[in-house]
Amino acid sequence: MKRMSGYADLHIHSYLSGGGTLEPAEIILKVNEYNNSNPGTKINFISITDHETTAAYNGIRHIGSRYRIEVMPGIEIKSVLGERKVDILGYAMDVTDIDLNRGLIGIRDRKIRWLTNTVHKLNKEIERDGYPPLKEVDVEALAPQGSPINTYDVANALVKVGIVDSTEIAMKKYLKKDMPASVEYELPDVEAAIRIIKDAGGEAVIAHPKLLSKKSNQRAAIIRSIVSIGVDGIEVYHTEHTSRLKHEFAELAKKHELDVYGGSDYHGPHVDCNYQRESFLYGNIRSAFPAAEIGKSKLPRRHADAIRKMWTRKQKR
Ligand SMILES: [Zn+2]
Repeated sequence: MKRMSGYADLHIHSYLSGGGTLEPAEIILKVNEYNNSNPGTKINFISITDHETTAAYNGIRHIGSRYRIEVMPGIEIKSVLGERKVDILGYAMDVTDIDLNRGLIGIRDRKIRWLTNTVHKLNKEIERDGYPPLKEVDVEALAPQGSPINTYDVANALVKVGIVDSTEIAMKKYLKKDMPASVEYELPDVEAAIRIIKDAGGEAVIAHPKLLSKKSNQRAAIIRSIVSIGVDGIEVYHTEHTSRLKHEFAELAKKHELDVYGGSDYHGPHVDCNYQRESFLYGNIRSAFPAAEIGKSKLPRRHADAIRKMWTRKQKR
């Protein structure tokens, strides 16, 4: 095997994640651009981890190899542990696995039920405000193929038909938690999310553990429970993690023998980043945060090497 070197960004979103903006191929170009201006810390190993879909991976590997950027399949699945929301990243799955795809279709079906309920509640509100009702197809037309519909698509549809001026207003007025058209997602439990990934030969990883709780002792307890369910790794490096948090999670990784992962959680060079981040991080991020650019939080070489070894091994199966 040839000598490995460089850095990795294993948490990138394309337009297939609501709120993400770039085509998967554009992401490769963006990483290449980053590499050209940062020759000392080149990223040559990435994963696109869209929400509940691996569609980005199809057809992108070859574009990656043209720029010497290796692409590993990835996914991010929103789930719950009791009342708590837990995001699980998945890596190196066999994306053609029937059960994986069936499981993701199941999550997508739940989202469609969610859409029906949301549009129903929303129409009561907008009709009261004197507007014609929104149709489910108006929203579906805006959701990229292969990706599950989310609040962001509904907000966009409201802008498109001219009911509100911006997605931010749509969120504030109708869709945000505790607003009249807010409907809770029926998320899979964390065990199911981990199982979907691992049954397809993948590695399941706890995403941005900072968001599990504001208290470090609670974070440690939650991580312990997720470890007992069978998770393989933890995202130690993340744009939202301070060096103190990185240290905290690196220690927990050591204690529970978890693999160390990391990435930028890039969603695209959007303007309205505060709203975007809120929508993806469950409203836990209060302060204005500049859009996380690819490469801002990259995985150090030794961890990138270990993960790439795993990926190389899995490709031979
Ligand atoms: Zn993410």
